Amino acid sequence: MEPQRKRWKGSTYGSECGSDSWTVYPVLSDEQSQDVELVEAFAAPVVNKKETSRLLRELSSLYPMSGLQHIKRVRAVKGSPQPLEVLLCLVSDAPHMEILSIDSLLPSGVKNDAFGEPFRVKIPARPPLTRPQFEQAGKHWPTSFHEDKQLTVALRGELFSAPQKARMHAYMMSAVTAAKAGSELGMEAVGAVVVDPSTEKVIAVGHDSRGDHPLHHAVMVCIDLVARSQGSGCYSFDQYATCTFTPPASDTSQSAPSSLPYICTGYDLYVTREPCVMCAMALVHSRIGRVFYGTACADGALGSKYKIHSQKDLNHHFEVYRGVLEKQCEDLTSQEGFQRRVDY
Ligand SMILES: [Zn+2]
Repeated sequence: MEPQRKRWKGSTYGSECGSDSWTVYPVLSDEQSQDVELVEAFAAPVVNKKETSRLLRELSSLYPMSGLQHIKRVRAVKGSPQPLEVLLCLVSDAPHMEILSIDSLLPSGVKNDAFGEPFRVKIPARPPLTRPQFEQAGKHWPTSFHEDKQLTVALRGELFSAPQKARMHAYMMSAVTAAKAGSELGMEAVGAVVVDPSTEKVIAVGHDSRGDHPLHHAVMVCIDLVARSQGSGCYSFDQYATCTFTPPASDTSQSAPSSLPYICTGYDLYVTREPCVMCAMALVHSRIGRVFYGTACADGALGSKYKIHSQKDLNHHFEVYRGVLEKQCEDLTSQEGFQRRVDY
């Protein structure tokens, strides 16, 4: 159910390095991205469609099908002599059905000759959360759908305007540059940038520094640099010219100690490679607003192996997008792999 990736087909006015060379997609929760779950039900054609309203009232009272409010009880069948079919009940509502018949399904209270031959059908067990799920569900049985229009646009890779993409491009380019600087120092080629989207200001730029300390992944470095920008922080990365931070212009530094656990509130992170579990949890704790990463990673915790950002039992959730400058970020990883093979 993950959206198809658009392949870039080139452009007469864009360049291979421009912001039209990549597409950004949201990384959804399992509930939003999984295939439609189905449950078995009995349905039957309506002989006289003028009786449909009354039959639906009677069926709803006999078999309320609770928990399935998203299911439309009746569907239209094109080209059939009996153009309407209704759901009678779930298979679990009539578990001991040896011979399927209307009489055994509707023991009393409903006019049995109002229906044609009953049949089994699979219907969506849960309300669709995305347009792809809605379209897949509709192939089985019609459902209602409360569409999140922004999500639909995001799934088409069209959420961000050209000026927004140009800014995102510039931020990720800074992360790529930082990754290369770190790589030249023998670190893993991963770079990260934290931005305040309300002011469009870069707050911190960092790169992997685990040559110094095993926990100094680029995201950890960047979060610590944000903390330093607020007058706190645990480490010094002053020896690395590319690891920088910018103190906020407002008077928020005065309140830094009390707001320290929420240092990244409202901020965006751009990171070349999908963060690991440790970094993803640090982003939860620091209350990041949104995360944009370039390329996925097999052990990644924001879409590949885990989806930490959508874990229901965590007390902070954030949006995650993938694909910003994907090619350049992939190249960093593959160059690193090549470098390692050379090293060994
Ligand atoms: Zn990490």
